[in-house]
Amino acid sequence: MTDATLIPWTRFLSGTKTRILILPTGSLEQHGPHLPLWTDTLIAWKLALKAAENLENEDVEAPVLPPIPYGISYMWNNNEGTISVKQDTFVKYLIDAAVSALRWGTHLVILNGHGGNVDAAKYAAREIAQLSNKPVAVVNWWELVRDVIEGVCETSFFHADECETSVAAYLGIPITGRPRPSPQPFRRRQPGGVHVYMPEHELRHEPGSFGSPDKYSAEKGRKIVKEFVKRFTAFVTDFIKQR
Ligand SMILES: [Zn+2]
Repeated sequence: MTDATLIPWTRFLSGTKTRILILPTGSLEQHGPHLPLWTDTLIAWKLALKAAENLENEDVEAPVLPPIPYGISYMWNNNEGTISVKQDTFVKYLIDAAVSALRWGTHLVILNGHGGNVDAAKYAAREIAQLSNKPVAVVNWWELVRDVIEGVCETSFFHADECETSVAAYLGIPITGRPRPSPQPFRRRQPGGVHVYMPEHELRHEPGSFGSPDKYSAEKGRKIVKEFVKRFTAFVTDFIKQR
């Protein structure tokens, strides 16, 4: 059984046998008029469950922990329904949950589904590894398959767009109505090595989707997810040896 929310406690006897804990992180934030608020978390969780199933077939025990439900979503804070936590809160909660969980596992993979969590997840991972004395990895799912996304999708990846809608459709996440094209500008690209931070609390984004979500298909999503599961499995199989 790969879904840790359904496992009896007696299955978590100790962390002596190789056991990879997968901890999904996401967000509860606006995802345009056609995707649910919990899209990022649902994608991360469902990808984790698919990957864990695949790992189990290869005899690697990889229970998927319940996801951290809220993320860092300053960017969409003025869109109704978005619930955001401060970076500090997110980091502390993630560290506490992960260090506690690692008493019953040998390795931890944080499977992140939300761009706003990237810096905080990496910061937390470094601390978790020190505190637990166990290896910790952060996987941002879209980064693991960025080349696949670029090959499969006609428009570039950002938020509630062609790619994310396709992946959501394939994973059975409900799509409300027909997604419409949202030809609003993507964020300005900065030179490599430059990180720019803007105050983001005053904006309200309409419609909240980007690019061409109307070009989505479950088939595009299937191709991306299939390759993700393959690469994630290969990574974890190698990660086990890094101890
Ligand atoms: Zn998203």
